[in-house]
Amino acid sequence: RYRTYARQREEPAVTKDGQRVELHLNAGLLVELTSLADTGAEGIGLFRTEFQFMVADTLPRLSAQEELYRAAYEAAGDKPVVFRTLDLGGDKVTPFTPATREPNPALGWRALRMGLDRPGLTRYQLRALVRAAAGRDLRVLFPMVTDVSELAAVRAILNQELAHAARHGHEQPRSVQAGIMLETPAIAFSPDACLRIADFVAVGANDLMQYFFAADRQNPRVADRYDFISPSSLRLLQSVRQACARHDKPVSVCGEIAGRPLEACVLTALGYRRLSMAASALGPVKRAIRGMDCERLGAWLASVLDEAETGEETPLRQRLIEAGE
Ligand code: PEP
Ligand code: MG
Repeated sequence: RYRTYARQREEPAVTKDGQRVELHLNAGLLVELTSLADTGAEGIGLFRTEFQFMVADTLPRLSAQEELYRAAYEAAGDKPVVFRTLDLGGDKVTPFTPATREPNPALGWRALRMGLDRPGLTRYQLRALVRAAAGRDLRVLFPMVTDVSELAAVRAILNQELAHAARHGHEQPRSVQAGIMLETPAIAFSPDACLRIADFVAVGANDLMQYFFAADRQNPRVADRYDFISPSSLRLLQSVRQACARHDKPVSVCGEIAGRPLEACVLTALGYRRLSMAASALGPVKRAIRGMDCERLGAWLASVLDEAETGEETPLRQRLIEAGE
């Protein structure tokens, strides 16, 4: 297997019927960026900037943040890097953020909510990103957007920081794109307002599924209880993909499902063309995509989704495997 993965490293992820899927990496630490060359990934689809904060004893300074982002750009070379702003809180705690005991941390003060309540933190991070991106393409992703007003507010901070950099004589990024992590059902069901102002979308399937199925991703008793390959979540992801297409906004899926071969094939059949995953998942996913017939799986899914409310009781995953699709 390993040899197969190595052999296909330079091959694109193309389905048997010619649909090209981009495979990107999720990363957060510099050491993970060495996987870009090992795996043949097309870029960093999700750089989790909070990792630097989670492994530090004190709040990383502006210069340390800038240095990390610059190093990420350098390691990636010509390949694109998407930086996600701090996604702290919830399952991601740091030694120095106050241990705010919340009854439901996943539903609590986390990610962009914290970022907007502590705008200084966000401004510093965006300042570091803007500086590191001098002369390069800056792709920033905001986590846990739940309402369009949050996206508008953080975009305004980004614009302030671009102006700040210009005022202080720093070279500007070559281009700037601001995207949203789509990981709350509120946005999934009503995406248009955000899609009008976001430049791109990354579906954060770990959180989206957690909130959709009301099942804590951290709790093993319930985390594996619900299956993404079931009619309800497939419909959700299908409608998200269609909404992004309506607005002509690029969309990727990150989150664990994108890194599982069967799930990645299903996402491809639903029309997703960019998946971002852990380095170890890339080989198996590419192999699966190269072995699938996108149109046939898409037609099969459409037909079973059509009949899904009419009483078929065998789980969809099982039917999919049995059908040998
Ligand atoms: C997600 O929620 O799917 C995601 C990619 O982000 P994280 O796992 O870091 O919350
Ligand atoms: Mg998330």
